[in-house]
Amino acid sequence: MKKEDNVAIVLAAGRGSRMKSDVQKQYLQILGKPILYYSLKEFQNYDAISRIILVTGENEIEYCREEIVKAYRLDKAEQVIAGGKERYHSVYEGLKAAAGSDHVFIHDGARPFLDGSILTRCLEAVRLYHACVAGMPVKDTIKISDENMFAARTPDRRSLWMVQTPQTFDYELVKGCYDKLMRESDCSVTDDAMAVEKYGNCQVKLVEGSYRNIKITTPEDMAIAEAFLKKR
Ligand code: C5P
Repeated sequence: MKKEDNVAIVLAAGRGSRMKSDVQKQYLQILGKPILYYSLKEFQNYDAISRIILVTGENEIEYCREEIVKAYRLDKAEQVIAGGKERYHSVYEGLKAAAGSDHVFIHDGARPFLDGSILTRCLEAVRLYHACVAGMPVKDTIKISDENMFAARTPDRRSLWMVQTPQTFDYELVKGCYDKLMRESDCSVTDDAMAVEKYGNCQVKLVEGSYRNIKITTPEDMAIAEAFLKKR
Protein backbone atom coordinates (compact mmCIF):
# COMPACT_ATOMS: atom_id res chain seq x y z
CA MET A 1 0.00 0.00 0.00
CA LYS A 2 1.22 3.51 -0.82
CA LYS A 3 2.39 5.46 2.23
CA GLU A 4 0.11 8.39 3.09
CA ASP A 5 1.74 11.66 2.00
CA ASN A 6 1.09 14.22 4.77
CA VAL A 7 2.61 17.60 4.03
CA ALA A 8 3.13 20.47 6.46
CA ILE A 9 2.86 23.95 4.96
CA VAL A 10 4.49 26.32 7.45
CA LEU A 11 3.75 29.99 6.84
CA ALA A 12 6.39 32.55 7.60
CA ALA A 13 5.98 35.22 4.94
CA GLY A 14 4.17 37.80 7.09
CA ARG A 15 5.60 41.16 8.03
CA GLY A 16 4.40 40.99 11.66
CA SER A 17 3.87 44.73 11.93
CA ARG A 18 2.10 44.43 15.32
CA MET A 19 5.36 43.22 16.86
CA LYS A 20 6.92 46.68 16.43
CA SER A 21 10.34 45.14 15.81
CA ASP A 22 12.87 45.51 12.98
CA VAL A 23 13.27 41.75 12.86
CA GLN A 24 10.22 39.89 11.53
CA LYS A 25 8.52 38.09 14.39
CA GLN A 26 9.05 34.56 13.09
CA TYR A 27 12.84 35.12 13.24
CA LEU A 28 12.89 36.70 16.71
CA GLN A 29 14.55 34.35 19.17
CA ILE A 30 13.08 32.64 22.20
CA LEU A 31 15.66 30.91 24.40
CA GLY A 32 18.28 31.30 21.68
CA LYS A 33 16.31 29.84 18.76
CA PRO A 34 14.10 31.53 16.15
CA ILE A 35 10.35 31.25 16.82
CA LEU A 36 9.95 29.50 13.49
CA TYR A 37 12.30 26.69 14.53
CA TYR A 38 9.97 25.30 17.20
CA SER A 39 7.01 24.31 15.02
CA LEU A 40 9.30 23.09 12.22
CA LYS A 41 10.99 20.81 14.74
CA GLU A 42 7.63 19.42 15.85
CA PHE A 43 6.72 18.53 12.24
CA GLN A 44 10.22 17.14 11.67
CA ASN A 45 9.85 14.80 14.67
CA TYR A 46 6.34 13.63 13.83
CA ASP A 47 6.61 10.36 11.90
CA ALA A 48 3.43 10.70 9.83
CA ILE A 49 4.62 13.98 8.28
CA SER A 50 6.51 13.15 5.10
CA ARG A 51 7.74 16.61 4.11
CA ILE A 52 7.60 20.27 5.06
CA ILE A 53 7.10 23.23 2.74
CA LEU A 54 8.34 26.42 4.33
CA VAL A 55 6.76 29.55 2.87
CA THR A 56 8.71 32.68 3.53
CA GLY A 57 9.52 36.12 2.09
CA GLU A 58 11.42 36.23 -1.21
CA ASN A 59 14.41 37.83 0.57
CA GLU A 60 14.47 35.36 3.45
CA ILE A 61 14.69 32.12 1.46
CA GLU A 62 18.46 31.87 1.71
CA TYR A 63 18.48 32.74 5.41
CA CYS A 64 15.84 30.08 6.13
CA ARG A 65 17.71 27.42 4.14
CA GLU A 66 21.05 28.10 5.79
CA GLU A 67 20.28 29.37 9.28
CA ILE A 68 17.18 27.33 10.07
CA VAL A 69 16.78 24.25 7.85
CA LYS A 70 20.47 23.35 7.57
CA ALA A 71 21.55 24.67 10.96
CA TYR A 72 18.96 22.61 12.84
CA ARG A 73 19.02 19.62 10.45
CA LEU A 74 15.35 19.91 9.49
CA ASP A 75 15.76 17.63 6.51
CA LYS A 76 12.03 17.20 5.87
CA ALA A 77 11.93 20.90 4.84
CA GLU A 78 13.03 20.18 1.29
CA GLN A 79 11.18 23.15 -0.18
CA VAL A 80 11.61 26.73 0.97
CA ILE A 81 9.51 28.95 -1.27
CA ALA A 82 8.34 32.56 -1.53
CA GLY A 83 4.90 33.49 -0.25
CA GLY A 84 2.72 36.43 -1.26
CA LYS A 85 1.22 39.69 -0.11
CA GLU A 86 -1.58 38.34 2.08
CA ARG A 87 -1.71 35.12 4.09
CA TYR A 88 -4.02 33.46 1.57
CA HIS A 89 -1.53 34.19 -1.24
CA SER A 90 1.17 32.45 0.80
CA VAL A 91 -1.12 29.48 1.47
CA TYR A 92 -1.84 29.19 -2.25
CA GLU A 93 1.88 29.08 -3.07
CA GLY A 94 2.27 26.35 -0.45
CA LEU A 95 -0.66 24.40 -1.88
CA LYS A 96 0.77 24.49 -5.40
CA ALA A 97 4.06 23.15 -4.03
CA ALA A 98 2.21 20.33 -2.21
CA ALA A 99 0.70 18.90 -5.43
CA GLY A 100 0.09 15.17 -5.27
CA SER A 101 -0.11 14.95 -1.48
CA ASP A 102 -2.93 13.32 0.50
CA HIS A 103 -3.32 15.76 3.39
CA VAL A 104 -1.93 19.20 4.12
CA PHE A 105 -1.34 20.65 7.58
CA ILE A 106 -1.37 24.44 7.16
CA HIS A 107 0.37 26.02 10.13
CA ASP A 108 1.34 29.55 11.19
CA GLY A 109 5.08 29.68 11.77
CA ALA A 110 4.28 32.24 14.47
CA ARG A 111 2.76 29.44 16.65
CA PRO A 112 5.77 27.74 18.24
CA PHE A 113 3.82 25.62 20.74
CA LEU A 114 2.47 23.04 18.38
CA ASP A 115 2.79 19.56 19.88
CA GLY A 116 2.54 15.96 18.78
CA SER A 117 -0.80 15.36 20.47
CA ILE A 118 -2.41 18.19 18.46
CA LEU A 119 -0.96 16.66 15.28
CA THR A 120 -2.40 13.26 16.20
CA ARG A 121 -5.86 14.72 16.77
CA CYS A 122 -5.66 16.59 13.44
CA LEU A 123 -4.53 13.51 11.56
CA GLU A 124 -7.28 11.31 12.99
CA ALA A 125 -9.93 13.94 12.26
CA VAL A 126 -8.81 14.68 8.71
CA ARG A 127 -8.91 10.98 7.87
CA LEU A 128 -12.51 10.84 9.09
CA TYR A 129 -13.91 14.26 8.14
CA HIS A 130 -11.61 15.54 5.33
CA ALA A 131 -11.30 19.00 6.93
CA CYS A 132 -10.48 20.03 10.48
CA VAL A 133 -9.03 22.90 12.46
CA ALA A 134 -7.41 23.04 15.87
CA GLY A 135 -9.07 25.41 18.30
CA MET A 136 -10.14 25.89 21.90
CA PRO A 137 -13.35 27.03 23.57
CA VAL A 138 -13.17 30.76 24.38
CA LYS A 139 -12.65 31.65 28.02
CA ASP A 140 -13.97 35.20 27.86
CA THR A 141 -17.45 36.39 27.05
CA ILE A 142 -17.49 37.76 23.50
CA LYS A 143 -19.54 40.82 22.50
CA ILE A 144 -20.55 41.82 19.00
CA SER A 145 -20.43 45.60 18.75
CA ASP A 146 -22.57 47.94 16.69
CA GLU A 147 -20.99 50.61 14.48
CA ASN A 148 -20.79 53.04 17.48
CA MET A 149 -18.97 50.52 19.71
CA PHE A 150 -21.96 49.70 21.88
CA ALA A 151 -22.54 46.08 22.78
CA ALA A 152 -25.11 44.79 20.31
CA ARG A 153 -25.20 41.07 21.04
CA THR A 154 -23.66 38.45 23.31
CA PRO A 155 -23.40 35.08 21.54
CA ASP A 156 -23.70 31.96 23.68
CA ARG A 157 -20.16 31.32 24.89
CA ARG A 158 -20.62 27.55 24.83
CA SER A 159 -20.62 27.56 21.02
CA LEU A 160 -17.64 29.89 20.54
CA TRP A 161 -14.17 28.63 19.71
CA MET A 162 -10.98 30.49 19.04
CA VAL A 163 -9.40 28.94 16.03
CA GLN A 164 -5.72 28.07 15.79
CA THR A 165 -3.55 26.16 13.37
CA PRO A 166 -2.83 23.51 12.11
CA GLN A 167 -5.79 23.59 9.76
CA THR A 168 -5.74 20.22 8.07
CA PHE A 169 -7.43 19.09 4.87
CA ASP A 170 -7.59 16.54 2.12
CA TYR A 171 -5.28 18.07 -0.46
CA GLU A 172 -7.66 18.01 -3.42
CA LEU A 173 -10.49 19.52 -1.36
CA VAL A 174 -8.57 22.54 -0.07
CA LYS A 175 -6.70 23.10 -3.34
CA GLY A 176 -10.03 23.18 -5.24
CA CYS A 177 -11.45 25.71 -2.76
CA TYR A 178 -8.38 27.94 -3.02
CA ASP A 179 -8.49 27.75 -6.84
CA LYS A 180 -12.02 29.19 -6.67
CA LEU A 181 -11.09 31.78 -4.06
CA MET A 182 -8.14 32.98 -6.17
CA ARG A 183 -10.25 33.13 -9.36
CA GLU A 184 -12.75 35.33 -7.55
CA SER A 185 -10.04 37.42 -5.80
CA ASP A 186 -12.00 36.85 -2.59
CA CYS A 187 -10.12 38.60 0.21
CA SER A 188 -12.92 38.17 2.78
CA VAL A 189 -11.61 34.75 3.75
CA THR A 190 -9.48 35.00 6.91
CA ASP A 191 -8.55 31.38 7.50
CA ASP A 192 -8.30 28.15 5.55
CA ALA A 193 -11.36 26.63 7.20
CA MET A 194 -13.42 29.56 5.90
CA ALA A 195 -12.21 28.85 2.36
CA VAL A 196 -13.52 25.28 2.68
CA GLU A 197 -16.75 26.38 4.42
CA LYS A 198 -17.43 28.83 1.58
CA TYR A 199 -16.21 26.98 -1.51
CA GLY A 200 -16.18 23.31 -0.54
CA ASN A 201 -19.08 21.02 -0.01
CA CYS A 202 -17.67 19.83 3.31
CA GLN A 203 -18.12 20.62 6.98
CA VAL A 204 -15.00 21.51 8.95
CA LYS A 205 -14.49 19.59 12.20
CA LEU A 206 -13.17 21.45 15.24
CA VAL A 207 -10.48 19.51 17.10
CA GLU A 208 -8.88 20.29 20.43
CA GLY A 209 -5.74 22.39 20.09
CA SER A 210 -4.24 23.76 23.29
CA TYR A 211 -4.36 26.99 25.26
CA ARG A 212 -0.57 27.12 24.87
CA ASN A 213 -0.77 27.08 21.08
CA ILE A 214 -0.72 30.89 20.93
CA LYS A 215 0.24 32.99 17.94
CA ILE A 216 3.10 35.33 18.74
CA THR A 217 1.68 38.65 17.66
CA THR A 218 2.57 41.50 20.03
CA PRO A 219 5.66 42.11 22.24
CA GLU A 220 3.99 40.78 25.41
CA ASP A 221 3.52 37.40 23.71
CA MET A 222 7.31 36.98 23.70
CA ALA A 223 7.43 36.99 27.51
CA ILE A 224 4.59 34.46 27.67
CA ALA A 225 6.35 32.26 25.11
CA GLU A 226 9.60 32.32 27.06
CA ALA A 227 7.80 31.36 30.26
CA PHE A 228 6.11 28.42 28.47
CA LEU A 229 9.42 27.20 27.04
CA LYS A 230 11.24 27.36 30.33
CA LYS A 231 8.57 25.13 31.90
CA ARG A 232 8.74 22.51 29.14
O1 C5P B 1 -0.40 38.15 10.24
P1 C5P B 1 -0.77 36.92 11.00
O2 C5P B 1 -0.21 36.90 12.38
O3 C5P B 1 -2.22 36.58 10.96
O4 C5P B 1 -0.04 35.74 10.21
C1 C5P B 1 -0.26 34.39 10.51
C2 C5P B 1 0.83 33.58 9.83
O5 C5P B 1 0.74 33.72 8.42
C3 C5P B 1 2.24 34.01 10.25
O6 C5P B 1 3.00 32.85 10.53
C4 C5P B 1 2.73 34.79 9.04
O7 C5P B 1 4.13 34.72 8.85
C5 C5P B 1 1.99 34.10 7.88
N1 C5P B 1 1.78 35.00 6.73
C6 C5P B 1 2.31 34.64 5.50
N2 C5P B 1 2.14 35.47 4.41
C7 C5P B 1 1.51 36.65 4.54
C8 C5P B 1 0.96 37.02 5.79
C9 C5P B 1 1.10 36.16 6.87
O8 C5P B 1 2.93 33.56 5.37
N3 C5P B 1 1.41 37.44 3.49
